[in-house]
Amino acid sequence: AYHCTTIVDCNTRKQHGLLVIPIPELDSDNHVLLSSLDETVIQHGAPFNLGLHKYQGNCYSPNGHKYIREFSRMLTPLGIEPALPECPGLLESIEENGATFAENALIKARAVFEATGLPAVADDSGICIDPLGGGPGGRSARYLGEDTPYPVKNAAILERLKDVPDELRTARFTCAIALVTERGEHVFEASCEGKIGYEPRGERGFGYDPIFYVGEKSFSELTDGEKDAVSHRGKALQKL
Ligand code: IMP
Repeated sequence: AYHCTTIVDCNTRKQHGLLVIPIPELDSDNHVLLSSLDETVIQHGAPFNLGLHKYQGNCYSPNGHKYIREFSRMLTPLGIEPALPECPGLLESIEENGATFAENALIKARAVFEATGLPAVADDSGICIDPLGGGPGGRSARYLGEDTPYPVKNAAILERLKDVPDELRTARFTCAIALVTERGEHVFEASCEGKIGYEPRGERGFGYDPIFYVGEKSFSELTDGEKDAVSHRGKALQKL
């Protein structure tokens, strides 16, 4: 048996498709255990509205789901099981209009804390490419259009950089994680320095991973453990 929900993008509120989750395990507060989403099946491109059910209102984006996986696999060994807020409409209503990764992460964590009264953690991340003037940065998800597949975005970046010499191809991923509790607010930020390669390589990861190289390997060629050890998200999470 499965629960279904629509996939709604936080920024555009557009429906991306259908998320089918095997009946998820709930914790004692009735929050969905992220580990039970591991088998999630995402069907892209087909807008669906399946009507009301328990998880409608939670907001997942296809990429967001990948981040959650990374957080989950790093936190689970520590005995921490992150849960998504169950506040219908909340995540869709948040406007990520901050000027920095830190501000956007704080906007999201504050909104969840205010709605639930529970300690809330939210992140914002993106890639800054020096020969593109530091872009796309905070607009990484929207670069060339929200719905444009990443292989197309990555090919376009490689094309724009085709005459850029190796030493100028520097780039970094940045991740800001905001924690908001009744005792205050903190932001933990970290970056991972690398370079944009000359071709996409590797099968793992997501987003801009295939064109972002740390040393000889792209992020997509690293194992989960290798990526977590050096990635912006892994290092920000360690600080948290
Ligand atoms: P957000 O959902 O607004 O945080 O968008 C972050 C953007 O940065 C998305 O376009 C992601 O694809 C990209 N991004 C962030 N972290 C990573 C990563 O670890 N690998 C690849 N792309 C990433």
